[in-house]
Amino acid sequence: MKIQNYINGEWKEPSTGQFAPVINPATGETIAEVAMSGPNDIDEAVQAAKEAQKQWALVPAPKRAEILYKVGMLLKERKEQLARLLTMEMGKVIEEARGEVQEGIDMAFYMAGEGRRLFGDTTPSELKDKFAMSVRTPVGVVGIITPWNFPIAIATWKSFPAIVAGNAVVWKPAPETPIMAQELARIFEEAGLPPGVFHVVHGDGPTVGNALVEHPDVKVISFTGSNEVGRMIAEKCGRLLKKVSLEMGGKNAVIVMDDADLTLAVDGIIWSAFGTSGQRCTACSRVIVHERVKQELERRLLEAVKTLKIGNGLDETVKVGPVIHEEALQKIDRYVRIGVEEGAKLLVGGYILREGDYARGFYYAPTIFTDVTPNMRIAREEIFGPVVSIISVRSLDEAIAVNNSVDYGLSSAIFTRDVNNVFRAMRDLDTGIVYVNAGTTGAEIHLPFGGTKGTGNGHRDSGVAALDVFTEWRSIYVDFSGKLQRAQIDTDD
Ligand code: NAD
Repeated sequence: MKIQNYINGEWKEPSTGQFAPVINPATGETIAEVAMSGPNDIDEAVQAAKEAQKQWALVPAPKRAEILYKVGMLLKERKEQLARLLTMEMGKVIEEARGEVQEGIDMAFYMAGEGRRLFGDTTPSELKDKFAMSVRTPVGVVGIITPWNFPIAIATWKSFPAIVAGNAVVWKPAPETPIMAQELARIFEEAGLPPGVFHVVHGDGPTVGNALVEHPDVKVISFTGSNEVGRMIAEKCGRLLKKVSLEMGGKNAVIVMDDADLTLAVDGIIWSAFGTSGQRCTACSRVIVHERVKQELERRLLEAVKTLKIGNGLDETVKVGPVIHEEALQKIDRYVRIGVEEGAKLLVGGYILREGDYARGFYYAPTIFTDVTPNMRIAREEIFGPVVSIISVRSLDEAIAVNNSVDYGLSSAIFTRDVNNVFRAMRDLDTGIVYVNAGTTGAEIHLPFGGTKGTGNGHRDSGVAALDVFTEWRSIYVDFSGKLQRAQIDTDD
């Protein structure tokens, strides 16, 4: 399968004529080839998007939304097929791949609903015979840059609100996972989206991603990925005075208090730490446990880890799939060595699986460190693999301080039965998402998604908040008095 660009409603060879292999991380097999485009392809897509957007913005929003409803229906019909392709290109286990496609379905129906809302404000005017209101207007051409770990969901979080709000989209997916991009473009086409409103240009970050960021006709960049790349993009957008939304890394913690239901806490930790092989931005990579229950929690976690079947995610009984590629395996392994050198104690795992069925894929053993201190690198830096660090504390105050001490602020969780602990945690944990008696993953699409501090730059995906990035506010005053009325001056007092 050769994956082409989708520009102005047509499937096109990249101007470079170059392609790169797409590897199934479970087997090491090449399953497709993806276009490695150049800046010319971005320019072609942006020019077409600019033209198409003018007409698209004039289509009534409820009509724009009807196309999103159709997209939702098509995603629903194809859920199983898409989930299987997703597992093959990204590696996450099939159950999670189905969940990811479901997120896209949910987002389609939710954002289609926005077509009949897109609420602005109407307010009283301070003057007689004058009307005041604000409306959302589209920004124009939107550039979307996404990572490989949620190859369809993140694209839907960004493109659906952008499109319903009247923008045109140029999307550069991660080169590791182009199949979902191809499928989403096909679905938009079948749903009747006019040519030019949605484009996919494949390629690497420094060439194609950068061309999108720097293109003068792209008015907003919505990026999800690593901090390193996000920071670079933000600097460029800053110089260009371009609107930019960044969703980046995490160092998410589960707090386990001494009154917690430990069975529930173990389920929550295992799911958040080892689901998607730890490659979620919301993955639990720290467990902050009250010293009174540390030993018992460790014993139960060890028992639970032993039951996790590792392998190809297409096998329904597998719980932990591969990581994305060899480079990721090496990065994870380097962090594990760092942890050992820092003096953390390896409870389980800590090695690459190379034997038998694991020989050709990229598998890392689920790994737990204990006796980790908050200042160790493994407790502060994003590893993005199945590695979790246990940190012991003596109180809720200390737990909150440890949680808040990292540079990231995406998600956190607390297991406790004490309502006072719950409300203090809700107030004091400084992350964009807080879970009570659940792990650090599991966001629903109708609430804002994103983080504080180094995780983002104040914007949010999901929920109504997602519209803010893709719209400008226009405040409109209509004076029907027939005379000049000066604000703040011609009032009656
Ligand atoms: P990455 O930053 O390496 O790549 C993300 C995207 O940026 C890719 O499409 C890549 O090609 C592109 N890119 C790379 N260099 C670029 C450049 N110079 N200019 C423009 N684009 C460029 O991230 P990744 O390895 O694909 O994904 C993993 C990261 O994503 C993790 O840090 C994870 O926490 C983060 N993530 C965050 C969220 C969130 O919502 N907060 C969600 C999922 C993943």
